[in-house]
Amino acid sequence: MIHGELELAAPLRWGMVGGGRGSQIGYIHRSAALRDGHFRLVAGAFDIDPAAGRDFGQRLGVAPERCYESYRSMFEVETRRPDGLQAVSIATPNGTHFEICKAALEAGLHVVCEKPLCFTTAEALELQALAQARRRVLGVTYGYAGHQLIEEARARIAAGELGEIRIVQMQFAHGFHCAPAERDSAAARWRVDPKMAGPSYVLGDVGTHPLYLSEVMLPELEIDELLCSRQSFVPGRAPLEDNAFTIMKYTSGAVGYVWSCAVNAGSMHGQKIRVIGSRASLEWWDEQPNQLRLEVQGEPVRILERGMGYLDTAARAEDRIGGGHPEGLFEAWSNLYRRFALAMDATDRGDTARLAGLRYPDVHAGVHGVRWVERCVQSADQGGVWVRWHE
Ligand code: NAD
Repeated sequence: MIHGELELAAPLRWGMVGGGRGSQIGYIHRSAALRDGHFRLVAGAFDIDPAAGRDFGQRLGVAPERCYESYRSMFEVETRRPDGLQAVSIATPNGTHFEICKAALEAGLHVVCEKPLCFTTAEALELQALAQARRRVLGVTYGYAGHQLIEEARARIAAGELGEIRIVQMQFAHGFHCAPAERDSAAARWRVDPKMAGPSYVLGDVGTHPLYLSEVMLPELEIDELLCSRQSFVPGRAPLEDNAFTIMKYTSGAVGYVWSCAVNAGSMHGQKIRVIGSRASLEWWDEQPNQLRLEVQGEPVRILERGMGYLDTAARAEDRIGGGHPEGLFEAWSNLYRRFALAMDATDRGDTARLAGLRYPDVHAGVHGVRWVERCVQSADQGGVWVRWHE
């Protein structure tokens, strides 16, 4: 159980690039990083508009001289300070991730970067090599991966409760952009602009989330080949897609399916994963995250509740309030940020044993997501053909 005690010798000195006032995701980064006291916000280049970023940073309690006009000046000045940054989170539009991430790693910082890590597998591998060479943590925020019931699903699948895994059914299909939201919203606008969003919209924006959940639940599963069809229903979004279907064949003989969508009218979020085995299935839905459905063929459905004693030790380790009370996105993110902090600290101390016991969406997860989007786009743009995972 997590009680909020500091598990490091001292909090990590932490900064942010992006996540400014009015941004969608900045607040959850801060609340997750600061929740257990493992990070202390000491600097930031919070906004594309330097004056707005400076004002916002000061309102967050950051010293005026440490509210920077750009990430470059922040990294330059902070690396010269004896009490300078140790870690930075990047919460800017996709098109900036690669260059900011690269600069942060080159400045010797641990990094937490928003997904997608970058646009191409080649860039992602460059970041992976850089992080390894500099011995820095590069975490990626697939937020719900920190939810306890994802651990429960992983443990039950590993114990063989489902039998042989046959089908993995995934979706992240919301309806918020079923009309041209980009006319009024800057955050929607960059998502459908290839310069800022990259080669895809919904595949990278939402599809990679349940895909990563499947990697956590089914660590042995390897994609062999995939086929994708993508389209955009709201005029003006092409060549980017607001809907995509991806079918995957795994090397084990199992098959998988991801529905990525922003035009699922009426749906709030619709992130779901259902793992189907020869004897039973497990299903988790982010709109009811405290319940995991276990359906054994021929038996009544069982609803496994978060925080209960019958769950696996791994699924109880990050409990914060006990069963009955809901925990959701904020707690899942806080769990991830706690793991990021422990990994950064263990890396700094060269504690390989501690590192081996920590699992979080790392640079490999980042590379995997980028490769998946790249392969999906490749398949769809050739008219929906099977493409091999490894070329
Ligand atoms: P947004 O448009 O709402 O906010 C972007 C913020 O970045 C703004 O404050 C903007 O001023 C700032 N910014 C832009 N360029 C900058 C620069 N060069 N330097 C400093 N600040 C800069 O975007 P958002 O919806 O918050 O998305 C940001 C990132 O987070 C995207 O990569 C997106 O894919 C990701 N995201 C992830 C999740 C998740 O669940 N992990 C959810 C939403 C968004």
